Amino acid sequence: MTFKPVIKEIVASDRNEENGLHQFVVTLTNQAKCRLFFSKNPDWKIIGVNRLLNMPCPICRKDYYCNCMSNYASDFEQQIIEQNPL
Ligand SMILES: [Zn+2]
Repeated sequence: MTFKPVIKEIVASDRNEENGLHQFVVTLTNQAKCRLFFSKNPDWKIIGVNRLLNMPCPICRKDYYCNCMSNYASDFEQQIIEQNPL
């Protein structure tokens, strides 16, 4: 089964205008939540993905931190830019 994250909801969480760092908390269609780190300089670029621990990882099923979601950074980046919540 191929996993593809689909963002259902985006909440702006934190921003620092000085260094252009922005954080978003996103909810996926499978209810998993991730915190996305972006830099805007001047284009949006994703620099990090942290899965929140509201449910086990949809990929490895771990109930603790893992790096699976980092492999989908470009999917997240594309969806954030398309949905442009800013
Ligand atoms: Zn995982």
